[in-house]
This record gives sequence, structure tokens and C-alpha cells, in this order.
Amino acid sequence: MSPTIRFNDGKAIPQLGFGVWQVPNEGANAAVTAAIEAGYRSIDTAAIYGNEQGVGDALAASSVSDIFLTTKLWNSEQGYDSALKAFDASLKKLRRDKIDLYLIHWPVPSRDRYVDSWKALIRLREDGRVASIGVSNFQIAHLERLKAETGVVPAINQVELHPRFQQKELRAYHAKEGIVTEAWSPLGQGTLLQDPVLVALAKKHNKTAAQVILRWHLDTGNVVIPKSVTPSRIVENFQVFDFKLAPEDISEIEKLDSAKGKIGPDPDTFA
Ligand code: NAD
Repeated sequence: MSPTIRFNDGKAIPQLGFGVWQVPNEGANAAVTAAIEAGYRSIDTAAIYGNEQGVGDALAASSVSDIFLTTKLWNSEQGYDSALKAFDASLKKLRRDKIDLYLIHWPVPSRDRYVDSWKALIRLREDGRVASIGVSNFQIAHLERLKAETGVVPAINQVELHPRFQQKELRAYHAKEGIVTEAWSPLGQGTLLQDPVLVALAKKHNKTAAQVILRWHLDTGNVVIPKSVTPSRIVENFQVFDFKLAPEDISEIEKLDSAKGKIGPDPDTFA
């Protein structure tokens, strides 16, 4: 079973969850069902993934009721009224009257609507329609603005984070402000799995490189949401609670951080 991490609002999220980006709607039911069977109790989707319906079908059919569910507000729907509407549409597809966590997917500073969107999320939380609210891909300047203009600090910031892009400065800021760090593309979208350092650590612990990376995230304090549609890998990625990395293993992984390690878009310009 995954440990949980506590938010600044008193709620908690399972530290290891399951991400469904690029899982087609028709495949989402099977993937989420396999994940729940493997022990995952947290699912990360988004309106833009186009699979909220498939996720909702899997959750409705499952005998496990305590699944932590996250979805995200897409960029084109930013703004106060449009965010409230987009939330309703997501809930309908997810077949829920309430979810655990709603995130602003990207800051999109060029449109300058993330503060208004944040006010909508605050309202949704006040109305009890979402338990916790957070953001994704926010840089320090964006987070500072939310705090200055609303006084409400996000529970969590979901950002690109993996051994080649460790986000040390942002993580330190999160720690200071009481924001939980969540890692997207935690396996570097699979590109890290052949890295010789990680392969050697996998051999040392009799685990796979994916498991070593996920263990590193857990030891670092990140919430982490690996994705796979392959049932054996879904299981493999959850088998990370029966070993520990040594301090020297963690130091080795810390050395993989690189200025060129980023895979995804730049949050300051992505629209
Ligand atoms: P990931 O780092 O989780 O890598 C997934 C890929 O790695 C898989 O498609 C598969 O090819 C491979 N893989 C997974 N497990 C493996 C294993 N055990 N052995 C071998 N190969 C394996 O990448 P991701 O899907 O980009 O990120 C995870 C989740 O993060 C997404 O599904 C989504 O929920 C979230 N995400 C959020 C944002 C955002 O902007 N907020 C952006 C990207 C992803």
C-alpha cells in the first residue's frame, strides 16, 4: 500500500498514483481497472487527455471506493466562469459529484487568466465540490502571484520531474511554502530506463530501473504518477515498497540532474 502525503489543507494524497496521459478513452477503463487491482488508489487524468469518461467507467465499476481522483482544467477554459463550467463537464464525464483534487493544468501567462481560474477553484473548494485545489507547471513567480492576490497557497504543484530534471530550486520553494511536489513524467517517459547508473542500481537491488527511479521519487518526498498500459508494468511500478535505496545510491542519482534534461514544454511560454 502506498503511504500518503499530507496537504496544507489537512487532506492527504497517496504518494504513488497512476497517470493516464496518452491512454485512449477506450483503453482507460482497462488500464485503470488493472491499476486498482495492482494496488493503486490514486488516478491522475485531465480534461485534455480525452479519457475522463473511460476513467469514470472504471471507477464506477470498481468495488474499491476510496480512489483519490485528480483532474485538470485545460488552458482554453481558463477564466472564472469558464473554469466553473469546465469543472462541471469533467465531473459529468467522471460520473462524480465531487473529486479529490482539481488542478490548473498550465499557467499560460500570455493569457493572464490563471488568477481568475484560481479564484474559481477556491470557490469550488468552498462549495465542497472538490476537496483540494492545486496547480501544474507553475513556476515560482506564478505561485507567488497566486499567494499575493488570493492568499490561498496551492496544496500541490504537479511538474516535470525525474532524475535528469530534478527541479531542486522549485522543490526547495515548495518545501518553504508548504506545497507538495508532484512529479509528472517521473520515468522521463521511459527515456531514463537505459541509463547506466540506473541500470547498475537496479542490478544491485535486484529491481528494475523503473522501480529504482520510483523509489528515488518516494525517498525524495515527491508524489509520483507513472503511466503504463501494460499490465505487467503497471504491477511492476507498484512493487516499490519492499526495498530501500542507500544514501550513496541517492547521491549517484542526484548527479544525473542536467541543465539539458527537460523533456516537456516551457511553462513560461506554453499555451
Ligand atoms: P512516464 O515517465 O510515467 O513514462 C511512461 C512511459 O514509460 C510509458 O508510456 C512506457 O513507455 C514507459 N514505462 C512505464 N513503466 C515502465 C516499465 N516498468 N518498464 C518499461 N517502460 C515503462 O511518463 P508520462 O506518462 O509522461 O507521465 C506520467 C503521468 O504524468 C501522465 O500519465 C500524466 O498523468 C502526468 N503528466 C502530466 C503533465 C502535466 O502537464 N501536468 C504532463 C505529462 C504527464
